[in-house]
This record gives sequence, structure tokens and C-alpha cells, in this order.
Amino acid sequence: MADRDGLIWFDGELVPWRDAKVHVLTHTLHYGMGCFEGVRAYQTPEGPAIFRLQEHTDRLFRSAHILNMKMPFTKEQVNDAQIQAVRENGLDEAYLRPMAFLGSEGMGLRADNLQVHLIVAAWHWPSYMSPEAREKGIKVRTSSYTRHHVNITMCKAKANGNYINSMLALNEAIASGCEEALLLDNEGYVAEGSGENIFILRDGILHTPELTSCLEGITRKSILEFARELGIPVRERRITRDEVYIADEAFFTGTAAEVLPIRELDGRIIGEGKRGPVTEKLQGMYFDAVKGKRPQNAEWLTPVK
Ligand code: PMP
Repeated sequence: MADRDGLIWFDGELVPWRDAKVHVLTHTLHYGMGCFEGVRAYQTPEGPAIFRLQEHTDRLFRSAHILNMKMPFTKEQVNDAQIQAVRENGLDEAYLRPMAFLGSEGMGLRADNLQVHLIVAAWHWPSYMSPEAREKGIKVRTSSYTRHHVNITMCKAKANGNYINSMLALNEAIASGCEEALLLDNEGYVAEGSGENIFILRDGILHTPELTSCLEGITRKSILEFARELGIPVRERRITRDEVYIADEAFFTGTAAEVLPIRELDGRIIGEGKRGPVTEKLQGMYFDAVKGKRPQNAEWLTPVK
């Protein structure tokens, strides 16, 4: 990833991609105290546009607040940095990675007097899973790793260190022939995927775990709004893994994964074992919204001009 052309926004300036470097004693590299976002820009009839930019920036600032990191830029500057990262790299579609991290002024856990740095990188990352997965769905396994407890690393911050847990779970799932992991909370209820929220549909009702042990997903929020528009009843509540086994449909949501059907969990086929009709409808609405084909969601798109 490091050896390529392009520009990365780094502490207020666009620097050549290959020069966007930090010291090996960068604090965040050692202890994982940092926060980031995953954002996407899509091609729309009016040119590239960033999807729900303000909400991603707001979540980044909430994450920093939870972690007690003082952001050195305003939200407007961070929004503008993301627009610049897409525009100045000449991207028509992009995955964006804003990240706030602590500098190399000291190594103590007290972490006082450390500078907070901010980068925004943007690159072309078309599909998180294989393109067929959007139709066929993916195979998932329940992880042997528990998702974070609210009183361990907390769940509202999209914190760098939280992703150790995600990577352990994802790699375990891949090693056992699956494509994604489903993590349970410390009481054994369904929390989320390694980088996605989960929904199940049963008897026409959409269920998704309440936000206690999962990230406040922005894609999740979009799906809830579509469900409301379609008149599909939604329950945000605790879900058990066997409820997923017997669901009519199930899918993951996330900026990277978008809307991804789940066809199998722990060797149990879910519903018809492929993308279900409600998943297909919601997925279609999502892709239309991100691509600027839903005028009613136009305010979700920030043009890159
Ligand atoms: N949960 C986790 C752990 C994630 O990393 C993500 C991706 N940011 C999500 C859920 C989905 O969030 P969003 O829809 O905002 O991308």
C-alpha cells in the first residue's frame, strides 16, 4: 500500500503518498490508542460524491472524545480533507481512511503532551468481498472470540486497538473455510461481524442487535431508514445465534462490505441459502442511494468538486 503514486492529506497538507511516514516510536503503533473512519465515495450522475460524510466525521470526533484525544482540526477541516483526498487523487470512486493517532513525543501510558495527528488517505477499493458475494451471500462462522465488552474497550469508539479482536475473529473464520465471523457479546448474544453490523429477517420483521456491543454503523442507520420507508417493522433487541440459524434472511452492513447477504452460519443454511427478496430490495435501495439515484437521499451525498 505504501509504494504508490498519489497524495495523502497529513496534518493539513497533501503530501506525496510515499512520503506520508511516521517514526517507529509513534505511540499509537505501540498501544493502539487512535481512532479512524472508513468512508466511501461513489460515482454519481453529478460526479464523485462522498456518502454520509458529515456522519462519518461526527463519529470520528465522538471516537476521539471517548478516547480523550483532542482533535487538532475542526469538523469542517476534516470534511474538507476528505474531499481533497478524493479530488486531488483524481478518483471517481474511493474508500477513504481518516485516522487520528498519537505522535512519538513519549512512550508512557499516561500519554499526556502527545501530539494528535490526522491523516486522510483515499484509494480505489471496489469490492470488499468477491463481487458474486453480493448476490450469493457469504458463509459465516460464530467466532470463538468474544466481542468487546462495554467496560473493556467500549464499543462506541471506532478505535484502532479494537480491531485486534476483529482480525483474530476474521482470520479464524477464513482459516475454517468461511468468509466472515459473527462475534457474540460477553453474555453470548449476537453483536456484529468483524467490520459489519448484522440484520436478520423473520416473518417479515427485521431484527438487529441493539447498539450496546456493536458499532453505531452508518450503513445500519441507512438500512433502518429504508425499512421504515418500506413499512418493514424493525426490532432493535438482543438476538441469539440460533435465531440467525432459523432466520428467513440475514445480511451484514458496513461501509466496506456494503449490504452483504449471509447464506450460511456455522454450517446451517439460512433461508433459501442465497440473497433473500427483502435483502435484495434493501441492497438495491442502498446502491441507488450511494450512486445518487435516489433523490430523497440526495442530502447524504457530498459532491467532490
Ligand atoms: N461494526 C464494526 C466493528 C465496523 O468496523 C464497522 C465498519 N465501520 C461497522 C460495524 C459498520 O459501520 P459503518 O456502516 O458505519 O461502516
